[in-house]
Amino acid sequence: MEEILFDIIICGGGLTGTVAALAFSKNNFSVAVIDPKKLAGSDQKNGKTKRLIDFRSTAHLEGAVHYLDKLEVWKRLSNYSCPLETLSIMNVNGGNTPREQETKTIFRASEIGKKQFGFNVPIEKSWQILADAVLKEERISTFSGKELQSYSVQGALVNVTLSDGQRITCRLLVGADGHLSKVRKLAHISTISKTTGQIALTFNIHHEKPHQNTSTEIYVDGGPFTIVPLRQKTESHQSAVVWMQKFERANQLLRLKNIEFKQEVQKWSRNIVGEIKSVSKVTSKPVGLSIAKQIVAERVALIGEAAHTLPPIGAQGFNLSIKDISALESLTGAEPSKIGEKYMLRQYQRTRLPDIFFKAGGVGFLNQLALSESSALQHFRALALSSFEGSHILKHGLMRLGLN
Ligand SMILES: Cc1cc2nc3c(=O)[nH]c(=O)nc-3n(C[C@H](O)[C@H](O)[C@H](O)COP(=O)(O)OP(=O)(O)OC[C@H]3O[C@@H](n4cnc5c(N)ncnc54)[C@H](O)[C@@H]3O)c2cc1C
Repeated sequence: MEEILFDIIICGGGLTGTVAALAFSKNNFSVAVIDPKKLAGSDQKNGKTKRLIDFRSTAHLEGAVHYLDKLEVWKRLSNYSCPLETLSIMNVNGGNTPREQETKTIFRASEIGKKQFGFNVPIEKSWQILADAVLKEERISTFSGKELQSYSVQGALVNVTLSDGQRITCRLLVGADGHLSKVRKLAHISTISKTTGQIALTFNIHHEKPHQNTSTEIYVDGGPFTIVPLRQKTESHQSAVVWMQKFERANQLLRLKNIEFKQEVQKWSRNIVGEIKSVSKVTSKPVGLSIAKQIVAERVALIGEAAHTLPPIGAQGFNLSIKDISALESLTGAEPSKIGEKYMLRQYQRTRLPDIFFKAGGVGFLNQLALSESSALQHFRALALSSFEGSHILKHGLMRLGLN
């Protein structure tokens, strides 16, 4: 079989891989995207591949929105987006938290002179729109329905073998293949990983009261219960929910009938959005924190969840991925003839790794606080939230930090 040469091969066509492909192609690089899933456009054409429904939604912070706008995809994505104008954090009486320590802290984007913190977009929609854009781009070739099987480096070239035996070649291999990244494994890059013993249940709800573009995080025993606003499609109001619970409790919840589960959701949503009219199917995913110790190897760079998987709080995951892509795109774009060279990859690692560790540390700490049943930590959580109410400088500083 004839080998085809690309500038860049991206292993993984999820959100990170598709955005990266668009970014590199805008710099005139020839790009290949490999993914066992069929991209949305090809799905529509042959209707062969049935994919799992994904009820997750992703908060796109300001930087991500600007970047996607530059790639000319934000306009389409914005048709499905809901502005996140307010973040409400409730520390709820549960376990051994004394009632008087219950707090509710409201963060409004307007307090720091912004209309919104960002926009929430359902992952399914984002992925379809990005995949469509990828399929229309001449400089991008897609290898859908195939996996990266192995790769080897020969001088300035990376030879990639696909699951059907086809071989393709490039100057830079980018691993965007998610938290179980094969590229990372083949490059012998180890991770610092921590399982939190939690499962994230994700589902959509239709509810009685409007969400008022507010994302509400309710800190209860076992993990946060987060209601994220979705764009209103019809008369009925809808939101996405991410409910993190300890393994055993989550599995109990997953075994409930829809009507019983709806009652639990009604109880834990604390009537914030009124009566819960319906609950969609529930998808579940173990929660963990995992960071690659290195994000580069010879002629290889890791981006997105292949480099960092964070618990779904603080809306950081995808926004970190956009920063990875942006950093790699500007380095490769500045010196196209030198893509994949050692010093360029070192520069990429130097730029990104400190930020990744900083954000992962913050998210991990927040999750530990949210999860903890220790009365000392619960007390600290309540105290920290009330101190934000008391200090505008602290509160506004935190908001800006979260958006950065
Ligand atoms: C419940 C939940 C809520 C979240 N909420 C937010 C949020 O509000 N804000 C935010 O910023 N982030 C959020 N995230 C994180 C966000 O969803 C991810 O960062 C985002 O989906 C990007 O993931 P990815 O493309 O890097 O990896 P993935 O989505 O895992 O994609 C990896 C791709 O690689 C492919 N692949 C795997 N192996 C191979 C192989 N050998 N060869 C070829 N292809 C391969 C897979 O098929 C897949 O398509 C959340 C995550 C969860 C779990």
